[in-house]
Amino acid sequence: MNRYAGLTGHNAPVETICDLRSDTVTKPDDAMRAAMAVAEVGDDVYGEDPSVNRLQETLASMLGKESALFMPSGTQSNLCALMAHCGRGDEIIIGDGYHVFCDEAGGAAVLGSISMRNVPTADDGALEAETISAAVQEDDPHHARSQLLCLENTFGGKAIPLERMKAAAKAGREKGLSVHLDGARFFNAVTSLGCDPKELAAIADSVSICLSKGLGIPAGSVLVGDAETIQSARRHRKILGGSMRQSGILAAAGLHALDHNLAGLVDDHRRAGEFAAALKALDAGPVRHATNMVFFSPAPEHHAPLRASLLSQGIRIGGQSPEIRMVFHRDVDDAALDAAIDRFRTYYR
Ligand SMILES: *Cc1c(COP(=O)(O)O)cnc(C)c1O
Repeated sequence: MNRYAGLTGHNAPVETICDLRSDTVTKPDDAMRAAMAVAEVGDDVYGEDPSVNRLQETLASMLGKESALFMPSGTQSNLCALMAHCGRGDEIIIGDGYHVFCDEAGGAAVLGSISMRNVPTADDGALEAETISAAVQEDDPHHARSQLLCLENTFGGKAIPLERMKAAAKAGREKGLSVHLDGARFFNAVTSLGCDPKELAAIADSVSICLSKGLGIPAGSVLVGDAETIQSARRHRKILGGSMRQSGILAAAGLHALDHNLAGLVDDHRRAGEFAAALKALDAGPVRHATNMVFFSPAPEHHAPLRASLLSQGIRIGGQSPEIRMVFHRDVDDAALDAAIDRFRTYYR
């Protein structure tokens, strides 16, 4: 199954009412645009952009870490972290379903000369402590040097419990590994787990957070960690071409999102739950719900007609098969949720 099938290249024939393809489709609202318009900016390569500096300081403090670095994308943020933790010929231990392993075009190998040892991802999205311990290789000239454990939360929408994250990190540390957390949806995880951001961040040396998903900023991610790792990541960001200049325009959107959009994540999770319940009631195929995501497997013959019918009525979903992922975000309000449920009911009536 191509998990990105049908996400792009289709212009909707009618105005979009509800776009469930991803939480990356959010657009900046008027208040966010106003915050961007008045952003104080400077040259961030000189460290002189006050908005970028404020965003970095704010996130470092929220996560209880020393430092942070604004990045153009989550992929680059993860890669800079990997390159900061690992040298040429080192390897990372990573879940076989994780984004860094599956969905970042092998950048660790292509650009970092880092190999990836993938291990089974447990049903709840965690990595088992024993699996991690067994995967770490002895220091031997035959082996790549096991250097870093790469975790992810949320995984496929699932908020992995703190105890599971702690157990995995502990197993890695006992073998001398550093720990990186791909927290693209870190705040969805924290919202669902009901914990302080610092508690989840504490399991890792570095955490990458996407601000361009549920938090609704146009582009940008932040890598958070100890000062030394972030200093090294800054060099790698330069190598990878990710240093930006007056990026405070984007950072101001990030600061606005941290002030105004975090609280809405709980509503995204609630709407996803309501949508899943409505889909289940249709009895049209297996339905799962996790934080802001709903996964639905219609009968194979319904895939294309369902998608076309919804699209013609302004409801957009991806074309993955057999399981379609639908994602709730701040541009899907209660009216859009109701419309989506209504169109699904109409199709199956
Ligand atoms: C979206 C995502 C990323 C980074 O994606 P970009 O599109 O590069 O910002 C990394 N990890 C996970 C789990 C993601 O969902």
